Amino acid sequence: MPAIAENLATVQARIAAACSAAARPPQTVGLLAVSKTQPAAAVAAAAAAGQRAFGENYVQEGVDKLRELAALQLEWHFIGPLQSNKTREVATSFDWVHSIDRLKLAERLSAQRPLERQPLQVCVQVNISGEASKSGCAPDDALALCRTIAGLPRLNLRGLMAIPAPATSDADARAPFRALRELFDQIRRELPGLDTISAGMSDDLDAAIAEGSTLVRVGSAIFGARPRNSPVHLQSNP
Ligand SMILES: *Cc1c(COP(=O)(O)O)cnc(C)c1O
Repeated sequence: MPAIAENLATVQARIAAACSAAARPPQTVGLLAVSKTQPAAAVAAAAAAGQRAFGENYVQEGVDKLRELAALQLEWHFIGPLQSNKTREVATSFDWVHSIDRLKLAERLSAQRPLERQPLQVCVQVNISGEASKSGCAPDDALALCRTIAGLPRLNLRGLMAIPAPATSDADARAPFRALRELFDQIRRELPGLDTISAGMSDDLDAAIAEGSTLVRVGSAIFGARPRNSPVHLQSNP
């Protein structure tokens, strides 16, 4: 799959250009390759091109893929909406979870994280654009949720994640990422260990990096378009 290696290089060049435009060192922004709906062979192709971190949205699909590719020792991030009856699979199999938006999920993940594994690395998902249909806690609730999660034994709270509403102009594109970073800065005054802003996707990673994202989650720009019946934001775990 030569296209995947080429696409990865193109995305890395975009990240480097956005960092340079924002006067940020390029190593301050990580790349998470979002492999939902893609076959294990596509992940293996990206891994062969040097990509180590992969994001999955659907529990069963992700667990099947990471098991199949266990020998590659990749880093797996769960980034989709999570139902509490699926937390055990996620706590057992993944390295990171970006989509914690309520305490119950965090408590279950902490209780279910196997002792022989490193603590689960987690982000709190914030509904930064205030969309009624979206996952994520309200921005006003994020500090209290982070404070409580920071005290859970088997989780390591790393920062915030968001999926802003699609923007209609370049100026609009940056506003939600700026709001996310301001919230992050505010929370970090109390929790100085936080180091991750998970924001920016194929269409808006440049705006996200301009406003301080430290981890962009990129799917279609690396793997090509997904089938139409697998929406980016909407969630119903199949
Ligand atoms: C699908 C998805 C992405 C990647 O989206 P692209 O537009 O394909 O880059 C990033 N984050 C989340 C939470 C997603 O569901």
